[in-house]
Amino acid sequence: MSAVKQKNTGPEILVRQCLHRMGFRFRLHVNSMPGKPDIVLPKYRVVVFVHGCFWHGHPECSKSRRPSGNADYWNAKLDRNIERDANTLAEVRARGWDCLVVWQCELRNQEELAGKLQAFLQAHAGNNQV
Ligand SMILES: [Zn+2]
Repeated sequence: MSAVKQKNTGPEILVRQCLHRMGFRFRLHVNSMPGKPDIVLPKYRVVVFVHGCFWHGHPECSKSRRPSGNADYWNAKLDRNIERDANTLAEVRARGWDCLVVWQCELRNQEELAGKLQAFLQAHAGNNQV
């Protein structure tokens, strides 16, 4: 068993496959960007984060319900994650890029996922002319 952090997680691969099928070009694990985003589309100046609903606190999602035991511990931990995410998105936007967050529960419907990705990227199609 390896203790090395797994970078190519399942959810992220689904999003990559979806982008690939639609012909979008992207780069992976760009360490120079805030939050080391999983997927970056330089042509659109867009970064995509794939977030687990529980750990990143997907609003109004049944998968983000917090455990009832140890409430103080979980609230502190998960609130910290959410705050860190908000800061990361703000930093990315401050650099003139935009962010798309794909939630894990959105991966179940590939068609809807494709629609969401396509709509977001089309809206940013002219952003590389800076
Ligand atoms: Zn969710």
